Amino acid sequence: MMKKHSKEFLEQLTPEQGFNLLVEGNQRFIHSLNKDHDHLEMINETRDGQYPFAVILSCMDSRTSVELIFDQGLGDLFSIRIAGNIVNNDIIASIEYAVKYVGSKVLVVLGHTECGAIDSAKKGVKDGHITELLDRIQPSISKAMLMDDSNYLFNENVSYANVENSLEEIITGSEIIKDLFTKGDLGIIGAVYNVNTGIVDFFKNIAKKTKVSNTAKANI
Ligand SMILES: [Zn+2]
Repeated sequence: MMKKHSKEFLEQLTPEQGFNLLVEGNQRFIHSLNKDHDHLEMINETRDGQYPFAVILSCMDSRTSVELIFDQGLGDLFSIRIAGNIVNNDIIASIEYAVKYVGSKVLVVLGHTECGAIDSAKKGVKDGHITELLDRIQPSISKAMLMDDSNYLFNENVSYANVENSLEEIITGSEIIKDLFTKGDLGIIGAVYNVNTGIVDFFKNIAKKTKVSNTAKANI
């Protein structure tokens, strides 16, 4: 494969290859086989422009920094982070910029286990602007309750449902993203990071989980 951080690299990369870079990076991370990221060298490599191959929407949680858990360096990833990895129009706009104007090939919505935002939403915390943000998580709590409210995996189910919800909002909320996705120029996938193990669980049976997913699976 060509050297990263070039226009040619990004143009030739397929969504599936981009996805594989993330899978391999997380494997290195959990086995402590991280690449030796020479930051000065990376500053030199990326000084004339950026060609990040993936855009990742994840939570602000300090344990879920995407460059670390996917073993990537400067210039590799667009990272959009917000409590509970929820979606609004500004976030959709940022993704549109990444996939249409820069050419990132993979969009990942990454939730995680033990999410404080989800926990607060479940408790019905109301305070300042936090109230509005947590309201966006409520539908995922209702959805997980329908799955099984006595399940000991309930919290995890909410994390998964919340990722699905964000994916749906992105695809239904953006013609630009839907278009690139339908043409096969962009891969879209959900995932949940486990804070106990360091493992990123990519949705394998996404086709069963969301409306958008038949194509999502086909494109990755
Ligand atoms: Zn979180």
